[in-house]
Amino acid sequence: MILKELKEDLKDILNQEYRIEPLATGIYVYVEHPEEVSQDSIKELVKKFKKRVYIRKDPAYLRDFDEKKTKQKILKLLPKDAQVISIDFSPDFSEVFIRVKFPRYTKDPELVQKILEKTGWYPIFVREPQLPSAYFDSLYLYKIKTDRKGLLKKVGKRILERADDEVKWITATMLGGFREIGRSSLLIESNVSKVIIDMGVHPSPPTPEDAYPMINLIRSLESIDAIVISHAHTDHVCFLPYLFKAGYEGPVYMTKPTLDLAVLLQHDYISISKKTTGESIYDKKDIRKMVNHTILLDYGEVIDISKDMKLTMYNAGHILGSSIVHLHIGEGKHNVIFSGDIKYDRSIRLFDPAYTKFPRAETVFIESTYGSQKMPPREESEKRLVEKIKETVARGGKVLIPAFAVGRSQEVIVTLFENADKDWNIPVYIDGMVYEASSIHSAYPEYLKASVREKIISNDSPFNWEYLKVVKTKDKSGIISSEPAVIIAPSGMLTGGPSVEYLKLLAEDERNTLIFIGYQSPGSLGSKIQQGMKVVPIKEDKEVKELKINMEVTTIEGFSGHSDRDQLLAWLGSFAHHNKVRRVYTMHGEQKTIMKFTDLIRRKLRIPASAPMNMERRRLR
Ligand SMILES: [Zn+2]
Ligand SMILES: [Zn+2]
Repeated sequence: MILKELKEDLKDILNQEYRIEPLATGIYVYVEHPEEVSQDSIKELVKKFKKRVYIRKDPAYLRDFDEKKTKQKILKLLPKDAQVISIDFSPDFSEVFIRVKFPRYTKDPELVQKILEKTGWYPIFVREPQLPSAYFDSLYLYKIKTDRKGLLKKVGKRILERADDEVKWITATMLGGFREIGRSSLLIESNVSKVIIDMGVHPSPPTPEDAYPMINLIRSLESIDAIVISHAHTDHVCFLPYLFKAGYEGPVYMTKPTLDLAVLLQHDYISISKKTTGESIYDKKDIRKMVNHTILLDYGEVIDISKDMKLTMYNAGHILGSSIVHLHIGEGKHNVIFSGDIKYDRSIRLFDPAYTKFPRAETVFIESTYGSQKMPPREESEKRLVEKIKETVARGGKVLIPAFAVGRSQEVIVTLFENADKDWNIPVYIDGMVYEASSIHSAYPEYLKASVREKIISNDSPFNWEYLKVVKTKDKSGIISSEPAVIIAPSGMLTGGPSVEYLKLLAEDERNTLIFIGYQSPGSLGSKIQQGMKVVPIKEDKEVKELKINMEVTTIEGFSGHSDRDQLLAWLGSFAHHNKVRRVYTMHGEQKTIMKFTDLIRRKLRIPASAPMNMERRRLR
C-alpha cells in the first residue's frame, strides 16, 4: 500500500510529528514546523511515489491566530512595489492567498520560505488582471471562499483505494463531436474506471436532437470518476453545468484560465438561451456547483484522476488555457492523447504552438476542423488587416470586426498593438464580453507566449495599450459619431450581441468597412452578408426591418485558432512515429473534410486512421 510506504519515508525525512491527509490534489502532510522541511527531499518523494506532496503547518497550531497582525507581518515581508489587493486565509490547509498587482516575484521560493517561517502560513500568490473586472473579482472571491475540503477528501479516498483489479480492457465511446463540429464529448473507460473528456453543446444543431452529447450512453453519473475539460469554448464546456443539475457529484479537471473563461461563456449561454427560447437547460446555481467541484491544474502537472488513470494537460496553442489531454492508463498499459482544438503555428501572437513532446502515446484523437484546407500565412493576413484599417480610416470611415469574445478578439488586439507604428492614432474599441475575456488574459501571462508575457510583466502590455478603449454603454451612437475607429465586438457571426448593434449604425455609410476574420456558419446573418447580400432583414424593437449594406465587406482568413491541414499533419507527424502511435481517430470536423483528412493521415503518415461516428464504441486494448 502506497500510504504505508510513504509514511516510512516521511518518518526519515521529517524528524517531527506529522499527520497525513490524502486529497484529490495530492497528499497533504501537516507538521508543526513546515519551514524546517527540505524542499529537495520532498521533490524526491514526489518522484518516487508519483503523487504530489504538500507540507503544511498543522491547522491546529494556527487556530487562534490574529488575522490583522498576520496580515501586517506578511505586508512587511513583501517587496515595496508589491501592490497588494487582498490577503485571504484558508485555515483548512494553512494557506494564505495573496492577491497582487505586480506579478514578477509570484514564484519566488525565497519569499515563500520567508513568509512560511515568520507566519506559519503557506503563501499562494494570485495575479490581479491588468484590466480591472468586477466579474473576475467576484469569481475569485467565490473560488477562495468555498469550502472544498469535503470533495477533495472524498475524491482522494476514491483514487487511493488501491486497484486490486488489473486493467484488462480499455474502450472509447464517442458521445459527441464525431463527424461534426459541436457538442464534443468522449468517454474513456476501463474495467476499473470511467473518465469523460469535454462536455460541449452544438452551437447551431441541424435538429434539436443534435444539440447535446449522448449522455444516455453513460450507465450512471455516479459511475463517472472524473470529467476533464480541454478548453473554454461553447462546443467543449457549455453542457457541463447540466450534468451537475442532473446529479453529478464528482470532480472536474481543467486549467485555471479555462475555469474563468468557461463560467463567462456558460452565463452567456444561459442568457442567449433565455432570449431565443425563453428557457435554459441549467441555471446559475448549477454553474456554481460546477465551480465547487473543479480542480485546477497547470500545464505539465501529473495528477491521478482515478484508480488507474493519470492526467496531464499540455498547451494546445488554440485559446487561453486550452489543452491537449494526455491519459496514462494502468501503470503504462495504454496512453491516450485527445488533441482538443489545436494550433500548431509559430507565427501566432498569443500562444506557443501546440505541445508535441509526449512521453508516450498509443491512441490519438485529433481535431479535423480545417483538415482539408490550406490557410494563408499569418504574416500576410496581418498585413492585409492593417492595410484595410488604414485605407478605411483615410476615407473617414470606421471598421467593424465581429469576433468571438474568447480567443480571436485578443489575437486581433495583440496584432494591432504589435503593428501600430509611431503614427498610429486610431482608437480600438472593445465591447461586450471581449472586455471580460481580455481581462482574464491579462491575469494569466504565464499561459501566453514569452514575448507577450514579458510585455505584460514589464507593464508594456497590449491589454493596457493607450489606444485600447472600453465601451461600457448600451448606446453606441457616441462612438459612431466620433473620430475614425476600429470596433471589435461579439458575436462573431453577427447572430446577436453588440456586433449587430454596431452593424445597424454603420452599414449604410459606404466609407465604413466590415471585416470578417472567422468562420460564418451557413444561415447566419454574417454568412448572408459575406456572400454579398445587399439588403438583409434585421430585428429592431421586435419588428423586422430591412438594412442596406453599403459599407465595404471583406474577409481576411488566417486568424483562425485552428491548425490547417499541413499544420495538423505536422503536429501529428512530429511525435507519431517515435511514440509508436498505433491508431488515430479523427473528430471535430464536417463529414466531407474529416473523410479527406483521415485518408491523408493514412497516406502521408502511414498510420492506421479512422473516422468514428457518434455512439460508436471502440476497443483500445
Ligand atoms: Zn475551440
Ligand atoms: Zn471546438
